[in-house]
Amino acid sequence: MMQEFNYHSHTYRCGHADLDMTDEEYVKAYIKMGFKRMAFTDHCPEKNKIDKRKDMRMEYDQRKEYLENIQALKQKYAGEIEIQSGYEVEYLPGEEENLKELKDETDKLILGQHFIYDDNQELKIHGKDSFSDKELLRYAEYIEQAMKCGIPDIIAHPDFYMLKRKEFGEIEAKVAHHICQAAEKYNVPLEINLNNIFAKTYYKYGILNHKPIEKQRKNLEKVAYPCKEFWKIASGYDIHVVYGIDTHYRGQIELFNEFVELANEILGKETIEKLNFINLM
Ligand SMILES: [Zn+2]
Ligand SMILES: [Zn+2]
Repeated sequence: MMQEFNYHSHTYRCGHADLDMTDEEYVKAYIKMGFKRMAFTDHCPEKNKIDKRKDMRMEYDQRKEYLENIQALKQKYAGEIEIQSGYEVEYLPGEEENLKELKDETDKLILGQHFIYDDNQELKIHGKDSFSDKELLRYAEYIEQAMKCGIPDIIAHPDFYMLKRKEFGEIEAKVAHHICQAAEKYNVPLEINLNNIFAKTYYKYGILNHKPIEKQRKNLEKVAYPCKEFWKIASGYDIHVVYGIDTHYRGQIELFNEFVELANEILGKETIEKLNFINLM
């Protein structure tokens, strides 16, 4: 049976999702697909502006409008779907209090760790800057710290670091064990993120296509995450697992079942059967 919730969903406010797509249109798409619960977890605003990139996240004073709009949708669609509020956040040492403020005003925080501080206290962004092995280990350390502080409800794309790694070697395995060990210790679910599958198949070159799944399958080798080796390691731990669409675009929600099918093919039957999926949370 289909997972009846999705707790990873963005809005136009982040600046890199479909700008002409309203929050309500997303909600309608979730209802149409039969989802029972969803959370808006847009990229969080920063009280202290640390990430200087454009079109990455809403401004701090947009929070009120964002949360009020979710509240209105919550009431409007009560009985059809349960709507929650939230953010996708990154952990940085020194930001604990600010992150707790965001946690207190929402239902769900998911951790999408995209960066770390390097030895010179400069922000290093994964996918943009290359990480040394030492920095990659620090990346895992940050994810553990976030859980230790009780910040995230879910770890989004815990294998995101494979985006810029050529192969899954010793360091990559070490990072996987570190993240999975911490997830087990602090009992925080890990997300199998479906966004990179979307980007390499149905949304190739930023254009949505509806070619049959057999044709999409041919591009699966280009998918960086979910990473087969990471999830094989994860399957050896006592952890909970959820799928996350990481919705940014029109048409993405409707393809949920196809994404799950493709993700399961990447991970392989043996790993999928060992993973402990949550059906409701
Ligand atoms: Zn995004
Ligand atoms: Zn996301």
